[in-house]
Amino acid sequence: MTLTPDDPRLLTPGPLTTSHETKAAMLHDWGSRDQNFIDMNARVRDRLLAIANAADTHLCVPLQGSGTFVVEAALCTLIPHDGKALILINGAYGHRMGKILDYAGRSYIIQETPEDQPPSIDALDQALTDDPNISHVLTVHCETTSGILNPVEEIVHTVKAHDRVVIIDAMSAFGAIELDSTHVPFDALMASSNKCLEGVPGMGFAIIRESVLAECEGNAHSLSLDLYDQWQAMEVNAQWRFTPPTHVIAAFDAAMDQFEAEGGVAGRHKRYSGNCRIIIDGMQTLGFEPLLSNNLQAPIIVTFKMPADPAFDFQVFYNRVKESGYVLYPGKLTVAPSFRIGCIGHLHADDMRDALATIKAILGDMGVKNGAPAAT
Ligand SMILES: *Cc1c(COP(=O)(O)O)cnc(C)c1O
Repeated sequence: MTLTPDDPRLLTPGPLTTSHETKAAMLHDWGSRDQNFIDMNARVRDRLLAIANAADTHLCVPLQGSGTFVVEAALCTLIPHDGKALILINGAYGHRMGKILDYAGRSYIIQETPEDQPPSIDALDQALTDDPNISHVLTVHCETTSGILNPVEEIVHTVKAHDRVVIIDAMSAFGAIELDSTHVPFDALMASSNKCLEGVPGMGFAIIRESVLAECEGNAHSLSLDLYDQWQAMEVNAQWRFTPPTHVIAAFDAAMDQFEAEGGVAGRHKRYSGNCRIIIDGMQTLGFEPLLSNNLQAPIIVTFKMPADPAFDFQVFYNRVKESGYVLYPGKLTVAPSFRIGCIGHLHADDMRDALATIKAILGDMGVKNGAPAAT
């Protein structure tokens, strides 16, 4: 597997750096009703189910668009008009689910913790005990806002003990952090082609328990976002209802060959964890402080507090790092001024070490002596 020369290396949470092989898989055209494409589509859906060890109980329903499209589609298909959701929020993607439910006119309550703190399992348990009207609980596996790893196993077990439906935005974790439906009996998760599975952007997918989806006819307020209808149509003729993102699916199929060759979730987790360790250790050597402690940090994206050194100007730093071939990710956190460095994509230990050497040299040029944040 090779990188494309001269392309910037994306230290972002997606879209991210893809291999040359993945991009090359798009150099063809496919008829959307042709058997070759139909076979490829079926293979991609089967492979996605296998990643969650969910083939016996769940279905994979793909959808055109970015990740948010499939989150919106899943929430509006699964939550009936008279349902009530509880959203566990500790970042922007949790808030986004609330905004989706505002648009859709579904009622919900939230339990919010700061961006650097996981949700409280006790508070969740209490809310489900107190309010029998809560029908669905929504959570985010890795909250990409900070990079925090939320305790989805405990969340799922708690929700299922109360016999409610649990839906996980697993966008930035799926494929790199294990989520086995036979151990963690989630009802639905959503993810996309362009995160840890290292495909190109353009499609999302939901993995939904069949017995749950079977009850959802007529819930969706939107034709194009109706995952029940998308599923039913695909059952009939194995085709997409509307123009499928053929090239994205071809790239995704190639990306999954590479994923399997790397050892699946375990292999990818290992590489990303290594990347993450190199970035954190290296940045700490330069004085930078990560927002999260190791036990909360997912090996996906790392948030660093802004340095206090007056010679540090983030925009100058960002531009210089970009000119040297690495794209960082600005922060959008409320708990602390910060920026982020992604660990995912088709990047390896050598790329991370090279990125650090680049960062170190640029800080030296800028006259930044230390990356430490202001004392709090
Ligand atoms: C990337 C991401 C999404 C989807 O974002 P899009 O920009 O619509 O692709 C949703 N949730 C999480 C946690 C994400 O990381």
